[in-house]
Amino acid sequence: MLKKIKLLLELQELDLVLKEAKIVHGKWIDSKSVSDKISKIRERVDKQTLSRYDRLIKQGLSVVQFRNGMCLGCNLSIPIGDINRMTVGSMAPICTNCGKFIDL
Ligand SMILES: [Zn+2]
Repeated sequence: MLKKIKLLLELQELDLVLKEAKIVHGKWIDSKSVSDKISKIRERVDKQTLSRYDRLIKQGLSVVQFRNGMCLGCNLSIPIGDINRMTVGSMAPICTNCGKFIDL
């Protein structure tokens, strides 16, 4: 699952690059290489995770950082027990407050 978060993080960065290019240039620039990279990453992520990712990215970030026991998506603390379970993989690394993926 933590490997999956790295993939999602990579995907998010590319999605943001495209989004920014659209804002700066007012239209889609020639971003075939970025789109190709996005497709390749999406192929490696399961459907359920992708649909959650897509839903979240529309409202901002989908994968957020975790620091000092806090999710930086919602600035609320996550119980240490949950963090331990996420680290060992028995629990999905998803914030129990805001539902975003957490990059542990
Ligand atoms: Zn959160």
